[in-house]
Amino acid sequence: MRQELIRTEKMDVVSQLAASVAHEVRNPMTSVRGFMQLMQQERLTDKQDMYISISIEELDRAQGIISQYLDLAKPQTNPYESIDLTSVIQQSINVMQSYAVLNSIQITQQVEASLEIEGIKLEIQQVLINIIKNAIEAIRSEGKIWISAAKQANGFVSIQIKDNGAGMTEDQIKKLGSPYYSTKEKGTGLGLTVCYHIVKQMGGQIQIKSELKKGTCFTINLPAKK
Ligand code: ADP
Ligand code: MG
Repeated sequence: MRQELIRTEKMDVVSQLAASVAHEVRNPMTSVRGFMQLMQQERLTDKQDMYISISIEELDRAQGIISQYLDLAKPQTNPYESIDLTSVIQQSINVMQSYAVLNSIQITQQVEASLEIEGIKLEIQQVLINIIKNAIEAIRSEGKIWISAAKQANGFVSIQIKDNGAGMTEDQIKKLGSPYYSTKEKGTGLGLTVCYHIVKQMGGQIQIKSELKKGTCFTINLPAKK
């Protein structure tokens, strides 16, 4: 309970920051990117070309971080719609499939047919993609991800995303969802913050079970459509 409270407070700060800064910063970045591209059309040495390519990649990464901020700060104006969760899960798996294959990771699934929830389709898809992406990154290479979803007797739909990757300590689990918490060299530490935010808005919750060097299981419970 206390943990949850701290999370919510931190999220408010992030949201305010995001709203005021993100828009302002994006425009000059877009123009810098444009000039970089123009520069790349000039006669350049291989080294110069590489430096510019890296700069563009890093700019894109910064843009990605800003997009995640904006998602957090976005006012809840989108009306809730009826969502075919079964196909949203399928689409999310499809989106991540090439990233998984590239890392020799096999995704197995067992998803019940005709699962329905209410919410915003793009948001729940973002949650699933973020968590599957984390699972792939926790495995790094050669491993398995199990995805299952089923309607429970308590009126919730339960989605499980399990990996046999690096796993986490108790301490690490506690930090999940805090903005900027990342153990990755190029991580933003915002993926799960966004996930927690979205799932909470939908009246659901996320549970985590993890064991170091064994793997992790994320369970997302969402109210089923009545
Ligand atoms: P990022 O992926 O950018 O690091 P996230 O908010 O998505 O940020 O995740 C935060 C951190 O939580 C990760 O850096 C990682 O340490 C940990 N984590 C998330 N999912 C898993 C997982 N499936 N297995 C092990 N660690 C995880
Ligand atoms: Mg992530």
